[in-house]
Amino acid sequence: MTKPRVRFAPSPTGHLHVGGARTALFNYLFARHNDGVFLLRIEDTDRERSTPEMTAAILDAMTWLGLEVDEPPVFQAEGLDRHTQDVGRLLDTNAAYRCFCTPDELKQRREGARARGEPYRYDGRCRELPRSEVEKRAEAGEPYAIRFAVPKEGDVSWDDMVHGKTTIANKELDDFIIQRSDGTPVYNMAVVSDDIAMGVSHVLRGDDHLSNTPKQILLYRALVHEPPEFAHL
Ligand code: GLU
Repeated sequence: MTKPRVRFAPSPTGHLHVGGARTALFNYLFARHNDGVFLLRIEDTDRERSTPEMTAAILDAMTWLGLEVDEPPVFQAEGLDRHTQDVGRLLDTNAAYRCFCTPDELKQRREGARARGEPYRYDGRCRELPRSEVEKRAEAGEPYAIRFAVPKEGDVSWDDMVHGKTTIANKELDDFIIQRSDGTPVYNMAVVSDDIAMGVSHVLRGDDHLSNTPKQILLYRALVHEPPEFAHL
């Protein structure tokens, strides 16, 4: 086995809490036990809620806990150009599409679904727009988000190091947004782009992230990259 590379990826929107420290500890121990590499990524893309003070507090707390990292910390916000390029690759290969539905329209449809007692899902209407219309509207400056085109058939399956074999049918996944209309990538997109760039081999994180994993695996596949191993603690 090549050296495992794991990362702890806190968002600097508050102090390091015990749950985060626990996740960091598992990553640290896994790296040390397997002669691997322990990395830190500060997920500071939420500009309004992330502060340099909180980043400093997290770095201090890691030092205090003795969780020494093996390479300089990576700051997610610095990867923005690469995130955008990866979104561009997904658009070029038709793994993603532009969605012109406005927040108001989406809200109305969500409320409609609620009134009918149905679960809300994006209905994929912009997925069917002809390319010429998409180009015309984008060129005219109409705002759009970018959604991932979840394959209609099939499922996503992985052998979780904690939960065992886990399978989610594609039809349970929405065509989720990967880039907001202001041009910023969403969490799932940035994480996959960064984990690929950092050569992360094992993602060890809290099981509050379980529902993100099938989406992230689909992103890996669409970017033609082998997904890492996952352990949801
Ligand atoms: N930044 C995320 C969090 O603080 C973690 C992302 C991940 O481990 O994939 O919950």
